[in-house]
Amino acid sequence: MTKRTRTSRAWMQEHVTDPFVRAAKREGYRSRAAYKLMEIDKRVGLFKSGMSVVDLGAAPGGWSQIALQRVGRGGRVVAVDLLPMEEIPGVKFIVADFATDAGLELTRQTAEGEIDVVISDMAPNISGIGIADQARAMHLAELALDFAIRYLKPKGSFLVKLFQGDGFDPFVAVARQHFGKVAIRKPEASRDRSNEVYLLGTSKKAS
Ligand code: SAM
Repeated sequence: MTKRTRTSRAWMQEHVTDPFVRAAKREGYRSRAAYKLMEIDKRVGLFKSGMSVVDLGAAPGGWSQIALQRVGRGGRVVAVDLLPMEEIPGVKFIVADFATDAGLELTRQTAEGEIDVVISDMAPNISGIGIADQARAMHLAELALDFAIRYLKPKGSFLVKLFQGDGFDPFVAVARQHFGKVAIRKPEASRDRSNEVYLLGTSKKAS
């Protein structure tokens, strides 16, 4: 048996027995990641009815499903991804590269008006070269933070996926300058072996 075969078998075994994968299938969510957002929202009350949310790196759509449920039909969810995703009625989805000026501008225009919450689960394709992957992941997180600093309304909230490693501490320091409260969360659905965490900034300071 080749190493790759063993690895993909192990992955498949873990995938089919994963309680969050099973729950997502049962409950109609498009990703196990939906449970990460659900847990964070339950703890801190990120969303309220009528809010306007921008979801960066949204495909296949688990976070958008949760955001839409929480803000209701009176709210707004704008979702962005490099990849197409199946429509979620009520979510305004655009295919765009958020790492380009054009993609960022299209996101801003589509979101039009006040934004209450920016959530970003963006992650680059993993090359396996740790330093390069960390740099690309931090770059996406920085773009999301910059967008939140510029376009979130005062008192708004920001949730972003981060990987612990190079650039993590300076990122947290910048977030603290712009948000009244900053916390690092590791939801249960985030795998222990992953150094992924989520930074939550609330009470955005007026700029
Ligand atoms: N939160 C999603 C859910 O619950 O279904 C899962 C998001 S997945 C972990 C990360 C996503 O980030 C991928 O779909 C990927 O295409 C997207 N992404 C990566 N780089 C991006 C970029 N430059 N612009 C837009 N989306 C990007």
